[in-house]
Formats: sequence, C-alpha cells, structure tokens
Amino acid sequence: MLLAGCPQCAEPIHELESGWECPAHRAVTPLWRPREALYDAFMDHLARADACPTLLPWPMGPGWQVSDFGVVAAPDRTAMATMTCCSGMSELDGAVDVLIVSEEPGTGLGARVARLGRSHPAGVGEGAPVARVRVGRAAVPLWTVSTGEDPDLDRTVLVGEAEGRWLWVVVYPASAALLLRDDWVLCDAADAGARLVELTFGGKPPHW
Ligand SMILES: [Zn+2]
Repeated sequence: MLLAGCPQCAEPIHELESGWECPAHRAVTPLWRPREALYDAFMDHLARADACPTLLPWPMGPGWQVSDFGVVAAPDRTAMATMTCCSGMSELDGAVDVLIVSEEPGTGLGARVARLGRSHPAGVGEGAPVARVRVGRAAVPLWTVSTGEDPDLDRTVLVGEAEGRWLWVVVYPASAALLLRDDWVLCDAADAGARLVELTFGGKPPHW
C-alpha cells in the first residue's frame, strides 16, 4: 500500500474534490510512498510509475537492499518522477546509501531528496562532468551540485539529464561517490522482469 504526500516537503497533504493540496505548495501531484519498503509495495509502485523509469543500480551488490522508493503520479497520467534508495556496505565507507531520482524538470522531488533547499540544480552541464553512469544504452554525464550553505557535508549530489528528465544521484556519505565508476549501470526496474525477485527490501534509508 502506498501513501500520498507532497513531492516537495514533508507536510501532510489533503485530498479535495479538485485534487491533492499541500498547505505549503497548494495543488500538488502526490508522491506515493510505502509505509515500509517491501516487495508487494514495490509492485504497486511500478504499476503507478508505468512508463516513468524506476532506476536501480544493477546488479545490486551482495547484501544491498532497496530501502525506500516513491513515485509522483496523478491517476491515469504518466508518472512525473520516481525515486529509489539502495543501502548497503562498502569496504571503504562502511554503510552507504544511494538515492536515485528520475524526474520531469520542476517536479521538485530531486531537490527534496537531495535536501537542496531550491528546486533547480545549478551547475549541471558546466565544465567537465565528474562521473558517468549508464542508463540503458546511454552514458549519462553527471555534475556535482553544491548543497549551498548547508554545513552538513554528509552527502554528494550529482545531477545529469537522461531522455529529457533530470537524473539525480545522492550518495551518503559524500566520499562514497567515488563508487560511481564509468561502468556503473542503472536499470529500469520495470524491465527487470523475473529478476525482481532477486531484490531484497529493507534497511533504514536516510531522512529526506
Ligand atoms: Zn509541500
């Protein structure tokens, strides 16, 4: 079962006759999140995401789990955004979380997940990219986005563009962004078919 929330903030939203409303952001397309990240809820998520890709690092490392996911979608419309979080251990960094958002520009979910405080990722496309990930057949360049005045240097925020959508990759701790090598592959879970049963769910995602 998925619960409706605001894509841009943690305020509870209300369903009116005209649609969903956030006290801070007024009319919003809801973000649907599970009470708990479980396989059945992930199937509900994929049904709602429909043609909007739900990207996961693939293959997942041993012991890695899908710890969070969400989809921004109105009924009977193609979803605007999806997010996933994968959590696991790395030899160098200990516990690592990788959050991935694919969104139509302006949805605001990527900025919220990255705890950016503004919805537009500045600096994307300026200078040389710091990493590339493979999404399907495309190599997507990623640029570091500054987290601004935020004194917590606990995460690295990388943003690029894939097929007209923003691709956000947020990595905790910041140093673990070095895991992103050129052979990093992101797969749309909707294309994974029977291999989805290999995924494990659980763990505690970072707060966003
Ligand atoms: Zn809101």
